[in-house]
Amino acid sequence: MVAPDGSDPELALPGFALAPPEEALRLAERDEAPDVIVVAAAVDDSVAFAQRLHRVDRSIALVLLAEPERLPSLTQSVMFAPFLGPDVGCRSAADPLLAAEVAELAEQAAQRRRFRAALASAGAQLTAATLERHPQARRLAGRLLDDAPLAIVALAADGTVSAWNRRSAETLGRLEREAVGQPLESLLTLAEPDELRTLLERATAQAGEPATAILELREDGGSRFFEATASATGTGDATVLLMLRDETARVEAAREREAARAELSFLVEAGDALAAPTRIEDAFGVLAQVAVPWFADATIVDLVEEAGLRRVAVAGRDPDLLATLEEVQRRYPPSPDSPQPAARTLRRAAPLLLQLDKESLRETCVDEEHYALMLRVAPRSAVVVPLVARGRTLGALTFIRRSGRDPYDEQGVELARRVGERAAIHLDNVQLLKTAQDRARAARVLDAIGDGVFLLDREERVLLWNPAAERALGVASAEAVGRRLGDVLSAWAALAPAVPVAAVGEAARPETVPVQLGEHELWLSIAGIALEEGTVYAFRDAASEAALERMKSDFVATVSHELRTPLASVYGAALTLERPGIADDVGRRRQLTRLIVEEGERLAQLVDDILLASTLDSGRIDLARELVDVRDVAVRAVEAARAALPDPGRVRFRRSDPARAVGDAQRIRQVLANLIDNALKYSPPDAPVIVELERRTASIRVWVRDEGIGIPASEQGRIFEKFYRADPDLTRGVGGTGLGLYICRELVRQMHGRIGVESRVGKGSSFFFELPRAA
Ligand code: ADP
Repeated sequence: MVAPDGSDPELALPGFALAPPEEALRLAERDEAPDVIVVAAAVDDSVAFAQRLHRVDRSIALVLLAEPERLPSLTQSVMFAPFLGPDVGCRSAADPLLAAEVAELAEQAAQRRRFRAALASAGAQLTAATLERHPQARRLAGRLLDDAPLAIVALAADGTVSAWNRRSAETLGRLEREAVGQPLESLLTLAEPDELRTLLERATAQAGEPATAILELREDGGSRFFEATASATGTGDATVLLMLRDETARVEAAREREAARAELSFLVEAGDALAAPTRIEDAFGVLAQVAVPWFADATIVDLVEEAGLRRVAVAGRDPDLLATLEEVQRRYPPSPDSPQPAARTLRRAAPLLLQLDKESLRETCVDEEHYALMLRVAPRSAVVVPLVARGRTLGALTFIRRSGRDPYDEQGVELARRVGERAAIHLDNVQLLKTAQDRARAARVLDAIGDGVFLLDREERVLLWNPAAERALGVASAEAVGRRLGDVLSAWAALAPAVPVAAVGEAARPETVPVQLGEHELWLSIAGIALEEGTVYAFRDAASEAALERMKSDFVATVSHELRTPLASVYGAALTLERPGIADDVGRRRQLTRLIVEEGERLAQLVDDILLASTLDSGRIDLARELVDVRDVAVRAVEAARAALPDPGRVRFRRSDPARAVGDAQRIRQVLANLIDNALKYSPPDAPVIVELERRTASIRVWVRDEGIGIPASEQGRIFEKFYRADPDLTRGVGGTGLGLYICRELVRQMHGRIGVESRVGKGSSFFFELPRAA
């Protein structure tokens, strides 16, 4: 016994001699090979090595070793490798029974070899006797032939049968007289006629040395396998002697063993395919591939989804088949109530074995075009297994074999079922993982959103309380969760009836409700959605929304009031001008026309302010950045104000040095005019308004001081807001939109300056703005 030494440290088989693989080959060529050769796991491409050995001598029993994890793929390679004899097994190097098994194999192989040698020499004697045509020898030969426990056939030089013993008649089903004189090939239905020819040639070429091969004979019920030993004996009637030994049982047993191993390897590979990728499509794509061509010519995976069925993978043995399957998938996507096998399997929730002919194939199709496509797929047989995990049917796995290949049988269904079981478990795991990930994501979203969210169970106990709820309600999640909401928020009992709760899928219109939290009151805009396990509420602080609402209605009120006054004057004046007789009263007419012009200007100013405010809001205004002599601008603004006053001396400019700033002269003038206008509006008609310049280190400051009504400290921060007007009682009678100071602030800001006020109620106000000073 020789174990070629691939320097495998694991290989310790007592009683074995170790030799390098090349040495083993040389021994085989000299016919000195041992009966069993064990090829170590470390030998590179042990299958190729086995093929080379078996080309030299098929009768050597081989055991190929592999690491346990490589065993399935090795087994599969051996299954499909050509030129290998029947005695090739794959084992794990770590198999504890390996040594015993090898020893037993060696024993069997030795026996077979001894037997063959004996027969070969008997055959040679027999041939000699036949050649001599000695009657006694002939009798002897006849007896030998007939008593031999093997089918023995002698062939003449032309390949026809010259002798056919009793055993041949029994095993090959033809009588001697039918066989003799016929070419041997015509008597046997060989799966590979070439194999016989090669065997005979080899025997002739190596005269005296028997050659061996395994021949497969096709018969009605299947195949039989014969170990054929041919030896050339000389010339005449029996140039070659062929001995056939029925090895069907052994070959089948070996095939079954190999098939079982291949099945195992399919299962392992399917398991691997499913285990690696986490995207369902990828996993099932690989799974579909693994089954082709070993188990199926085509594989289809359909998954059950909310919307129905989804085909997630198809695999086909060749590109044409795959293309046809993809077309079927595109044009006839599976639907739950279709006659397609996958849908049928899902409905009955049990494996389905179909043997198909043209008629029954039609029954699985939706229409004629579908049928035409399926005829191109040409399924002969199909197994469909449902994917079931934890009582839920998740999908179906379809395996298809075309004609020209054994149809599926119960064993096939069983294997498919086992693959299906694994696939279902994997699918279930992936879905569970996805749900968990979705939950985690949802939880992160809940943590991040600005809306307060809490979930109550049916007993109104808090199950979830997000950080926004913590902030808005001032109650930590740890404090709230597990307690009844009524105990967490004492106001809840009174509020609950007012909070709208919608069903899932409906939209609840939030209600704004007041919530008393200790000292202060909150306004929450809140709505709930009823779930199976309770109710989830979402809310936001309505205070800012309320402010916005108030601002909107303030705007409408102010603007419409401000518009109505001048409009009423214009309307009234126009009506009066219509009156008969007014034409003569020139003075009155001039007065009315003047009123219309003035009110028209006021309206235009108002509209301008509104437009400017909204332009400033959107930041779309373009301001010049130029050197501006602020003193000059101030002098002009003061002059303009004085011109419109009955007592021009009321507005005064306190003399100063020139002061240059960076900004937009036009807009600086507008700001100043606005402040002077306000100072005049909010102070008695005789109180002075003083404009003053102050040169500061980095800026020029402009002051507008009045001795008017003043602004309470609490209002000073807010008067610059849009539409804000201080105490309506105080300003009653004085028109305004609350836009002026807002516009001033925005303009100054955009010129990189700032604006402010110092004021005392009843004493007066000093507004100022400052701009960056030019060097
Ligand atoms: P409007 O004057 O059109 O109401 P503004 O934005 O110019 O709008 O001013 C906002 C509010 O600030 C005024 O309504 C008024 O209450 C207050 N205010 C502005 N200027 C003065 C001032 N010089 N003295 C007293 N209050 C003022």
